[in-house]
Amino acid sequence: MSKIIAIANQKGGVGKTTTSVNLGAGLATVGKRVLLIDIDPQGNTTSGVGINKADVPNCIYDVLINEVHPKEAIMQTEIDGLDIIPATIQLAGAEIELVPTISREVRLKKSLQQVRHLYDYILIDCPPSLGILTINSLTAADSVLIPIQCEYYALEGLSQLLNTVRLVQKHLNTSLQIEGVLLTMFDARTNLGIQVIEEVKKYFQQKVYKTVIPRNVRLSEAPSHGQSIITYDPRSKGAEVYLELAKEVISYE
Ligand code: ADP
Ligand code: MG
Repeated sequence: MSKIIAIANQKGGVGKTTTSVNLGAGLATVGKRVLLIDIDPQGNTTSGVGINKADVPNCIYDVLINEVHPKEAIMQTEIDGLDIIPATIQLAGAEIELVPTISREVRLKKSLQQVRHLYDYILIDCPPSLGILTINSLTAADSVLIPIQCEYYALEGLSQLLNTVRLVQKHLNTSLQIEGVLLTMFDARTNLGIQVIEEVKKYFQQKVYKTVIPRNVRLSEAPSHGQSIITYDPRSKGAEVYLELAKEVISYE
C-alpha cells in the first residue's frame, strides 16, 4: 500500500523543502519507490533534485490546470527510485486560475490516484500558505507531516494550520491523519532549542518524531548543487539524520 504524505506548514523557512528532498532521498536509498510532488511555485524541490526548470516538459501546473496525465509530468532524478513531478513559476497562476473551476480542491487527489500504485511513498512539498494548493495537497494526502523549526515562536501559526487540517477532514478528506511532527534546525548549544522541543512534545505528544533534525551547514549547501544530502555528502550529520527519519517513517507503516 502506498502512502501520500503532505509536508505542510504555512510558515516559510521551517524545512519543508529540505525535508521533502532528503526524506524522499532517504526513503529511496533504503529501497522504497518515491514520488516527490513539488506544489510550491518557487520550485525549490525541483531545483533541489537537480532539475533545470527550462528542461521541464510538463509541470504540476499542467497536471492541475491542463489535465495532462500525471505520468507525462513525472521525471526521474539522479537517485534510483526517486521521481518527481516538478513545479515551475507557471504554478504561481494556479491559485487564481483554480478559483472558478469545478472540483478545484480535489484535482491533485484525482491525478495522484492514477499513479499512486507505482510508488510506496508520495511526498508533497507544500507552499508557505494555506491557499488552494495546500488544500489540494491535504485533500490528496493520507497524512500530513508538519516540520517545526526549533525557534522562538515555533508554535505560532500552528493553530491555523491545525484548523485547516480539521476543515479538510470535515469537508474534503475524512481519513486525513497527522503523520508526525518533525523538529528541524535544532541547535544543541542553545537552551531555546531544548525549550521548544519540550513545548512541542507537550502539545503533540507521541506524534513528535524521535528523530530531530539539527542545524547542519551541509544541508543548506546541498540545494545549490542540485543534490540531496545523501548524494552531496553521505557522511554528513544531515545525511545520517534524514536516513534515520526515513527508517522511523517506515517503522510507522
Ligand atoms: P521551507 O521549504 O519550509 O520554506 P526550506 O527547507 O527551504 O524551508 O529551508 C529554509 C532554509 O533553511 C533553506 O535555505 C535551507 O537550506 C535551510 N535549512 C533547512 N533545514 C536546515 C538544517 N537542518 N540545517 C541548516 N540549514 C537548513
Ligand atoms: Mg519550500
